[in-house]
Amino acid sequence: MISSVFESTKIINSGNALDPVGFVEAIFQGLAPDGGLYYPTEYACLQDIIVSLPKDISFIELAATITHSLFSEEFSKQEAKTLCTQAFKFQPVLRSLNDEIMLLELFHGPSCAFKDFGAAYLSAIMEQQLSVTDEQITILTATSGDTGSAVAQAFYNKKNIKVVILYPSGRVSPLQEKQLTSVGKNIYALEVQGSFDDCQYMVKQAFQDTKICTQYNLSSANSINIGRLIPQSFYYIYAWNILRHQKQSYHNKFDDWLFCTPSGNFGNISAGLLAKCWGLPIKHIIAASNANDVVPKYLSSGTYTPMASFSTLANAMDVGNPSNFERMYTMYKKQAMTHTHNITDITEQEIHKEMAHDIRALSISDKKIQDEILEIQQEYGEYICPHTATGISASKQILKSDWAKKLKYQQAVVLCTAHPGKFFEVIENICGSKPPLPSRLEQFLHKQSLSYKILPTVQAMTTVLDKLL
Ligand SMILES: *Cc1c(COP(=O)(O)O)cnc(C)c1O
Repeated sequence: MISSVFESTKIINSGNALDPVGFVEAIFQGLAPDGGLYYPTEYACLQDIIVSLPKDISFIELAATITHSLFSEEFSKQEAKTLCTQAFKFQPVLRSLNDEIMLLELFHGPSCAFKDFGAAYLSAIMEQQLSVTDEQITILTATSGDTGSAVAQAFYNKKNIKVVILYPSGRVSPLQEKQLTSVGKNIYALEVQGSFDDCQYMVKQAFQDTKICTQYNLSSANSINIGRLIPQSFYYIYAWNILRHQKQSYHNKFDDWLFCTPSGNFGNISAGLLAKCWGLPIKHIIAASNANDVVPKYLSSGTYTPMASFSTLANAMDVGNPSNFERMYTMYKKQAMTHTHNITDITEQEIHKEMAHDIRALSISDKKIQDEILEIQQEYGEYICPHTATGISASKQILKSDWAKKLKYQQAVVLCTAHPGKFFEVIENICGSKPPLPSRLEQFLHKQSLSYKILPTVQAMTTVLDKLL
């Protein structure tokens, strides 16, 4: 089988052909040279492999199998196994909450959020490649909290890689700030006297400046990197495989699991859609948004209207113009082309119809998030994070709908995106008691911080970097 290759989302719309690139190259580039996002030129067909995965396959084995199947020219079986063993020192945990809701816990990694899966895989690939060429790179990334801590943990002590994280002063939680500033060694935290948008703008400007790019050999690890998306598809397959083997005795249909993904930038759900395109037998997926409801509105109306984001209790999902929407749109444009055998004149309506068929989306208010957190705590004595709460609330609502009844969906698998301990202030306000803080988070509270305060300009940034790197 030929390895999967990637092309820019801009190509399909502009017809401006850049050559497709391999996985490793797409990872190091981050963004395509034309400013588009990478997505697979053609979908690998993995259905036979997926439906014959053994019952007790470990997450590492499964990740290695899929990696090798997708990228056989870049990773031999053995290389894929080494890579996944290096990356995944933690794994997803699937358990049942009640008859309706299964929880897929994705927060057992070092920073206690699902972003650890993408960051760990990306860093393992980058380190392995750089050890061959002995090249040095600098990863520059902006964070509003969660991404930065996953990246800091994943790249800590990696050879040939320095990481510079920009975060907005006073706008990340004290615990998040500790997670960024106390890691040390090859991880440098810059406290920017501005907003998250300023940080993102500085990163963008730096990447557009060839002199800066060459001087530091800049690379990106932000969430639009395809290297972070690919490993996030593995846990959909992993959970599906466990459920399928549990239920096989009395179900011969493979496709009756409904995943629900709490979504902000829509990367995590795009990973589930990729798995579906490769042949994971699922038909529909639920997207749970907080009150920032641009995508649910698009799916119900057909009109996409990006907005400025506003703050909610599920703050890692406060996104008003999700960057992965462009990727989803392109995927469904391709799908519409195959379904209608029409290569040139696909209409917006046809693309919308395809996407709205697969994705059920709901926007969940802060009030509903609070109610859900409290209800689960009172009924089961368990704490859930505000993002997971949007997923549970949306799933319950969808399972009650005529749509679900008609399709005989009785259960949903909710992706639990963060550990409740990460949001203990919010949860304590709602429940009156604190969720336990895992020791890997607790330890940060006692560590020494080190960061460099700078003005929100690229020049202030390079002045500090010249001294540090
Ligand atoms: C990043 C994040 C999300 C949103 O994921 P997307 O891929 O941006 O849709 C949800 N929950 C938590 C805890 C996160 O950190």
